[in-house]
Amino acid sequence: MLFEDIVFGPIYSRRLNQSLGINLLPSKKKFCNFNCLYCECGWNEDTSKVIDRVHKKEDVFEALNNKLIEINRNNIPVDSITFSGNGEPTLHPNFAEIIDFVIEKRNKYIPNAKISVLTNATTLSDKDVFSALKKVDNPILKLDSAIEKTFYLISNAKKEVVDMDELIENLISFGSYGIIQTILLRGEHNGIVFDNTTDEEFNAYIDVIKKINPRFVMLYPLDRIPPEKNLVKLSQEEIEIFAQKMRLLSIDVKTY
Ligand code: SF4
Repeated sequence: MLFEDIVFGPIYSRRLNQSLGINLLPSKKKFCNFNCLYCECGWNEDTSKVIDRVHKKEDVFEALNNKLIEINRNNIPVDSITFSGNGEPTLHPNFAEIIDFVIEKRNKYIPNAKISVLTNATTLSDKDVFSALKKVDNPILKLDSAIEKTFYLISNAKKEVVDMDELIENLISFGSYGIIQTILLRGEHNGIVFDNTTDEEFNAYIDVIKKINPRFVMLYPLDRIPPEKNLVKLSQEEIEIFAQKMRLLSIDVKTY
């Protein structure tokens, strides 16, 4: 599913309730440095020129301001202003500036709404993005595996673009203000079978989670139809078993 508009919704989100979405990425084009097997936006096309077509910050400011005025005037319930959309929002060159603008307008028009950013955490190495994510209410940072082979298989990212060890170090630096999001799944891609719920996966993941010490962890199964067809949607029972193992280690986990 690809979004046309800069601001969309509010729509119901299983994790964030009534969510007003913001898409900083191009209309109807995905832009991400991951290419997750389960990505709801589908897989990347040749993105070499797509970055040139991200929404201009001025257009984002105008679209959001107009929408917040309308929401305020009509008392429309909004629980979260959520950066998601057609790819990785923190890749927008003006991401930090846009966060400051959104905080100011949120405070003015819908002060009870949280600001949430769904991110793959690859840009935590950029100090402006790191600081901006510290300012939002819900920085929701992806970690689907702490084992290199599985990490690159599920994220479908190129090693020369994304360094998993550096990403994990940055998650640890970001620390307990962050919320970790993890999809649990198994399947096959290009003939390679994987499962990020095995004991080996669990142990490696828990080692990292303990070092990050996040505010809490979000666990969830596949939701929409993924671009990789050989994926298995885990049952709610399997998600709960994984969560319960984490809770026994005093880790705060929410399941969806
Ligand atoms: S990080 Fe998010 S936007 Fe990027 S490919 Fe993965 S699911 Fe899609």
